[in-house]
Amino acid sequence: MPTIFTHVAVPVCAAIALGKRRVPVAALLVGMLAAIVPDFDGLAFKLGIAYGGMGGHRGFTHTLLFALVFGLVGWWLAPRWGMRRATGWAWIALCTVSHPLLDMLTNGGIGIAFFWPFSDVRYFSPWRPIEVSPIALKRFFSPRGAQVLLNEMFTVWAPLLVVAVLALVARRSVERRDGAVAA
Ligand SMILES: [Zn+2]
Repeated sequence: MPTIFTHVAVPVCAAIALGKRRVPVAALLVGMLAAIVPDFDGLAFKLGIAYGGMGGHRGFTHTLLFALVFGLVGWWLAPRWGMRRATGWAWIALCTVSHPLLDMLTNGGIGIAFFWPFSDVRYFSPWRPIEVSPIALKRFFSPRGAQVLLNEMFTVWAPLLVVAVLALVARRSVERRDGAVAA
């Protein structure tokens, strides 16, 4: 996995691109949670569940099906965010699904059984620029941990931020033009 800091880059950058009106802060916070929730299966390690099984790490929480189901949190909360229910569902499902997709880009661990239970195939992207991060917190605060974070800055945060800022600029200029037309 990339570190949890990097998983939240996806909703944060999406919210920058879409703007506060479309993604209010509360929706962003739940989106950030959705982006890291699949790794709560790390708890499975502690419970002694085998790494390779679907109950273990990178198991069922890292599937498309899980993201679609977890998206229901967005369906439920959407009215509070001033969103249509389908939009709230899509927002949370997309934030959740970004997690296994990012995991596929890491150069270690086991692949992602994205289409489980329909297929047991574990996928990795053919291009895997992200250093896999140490799972144990103890090892995380080490030179290797720092190296992983630096790598993620360049491979995930920087490109996503560039795209987000470009989208923000484009959106602002469209809004300004539409505003001028309306006035
Ligand atoms: Zn993960």
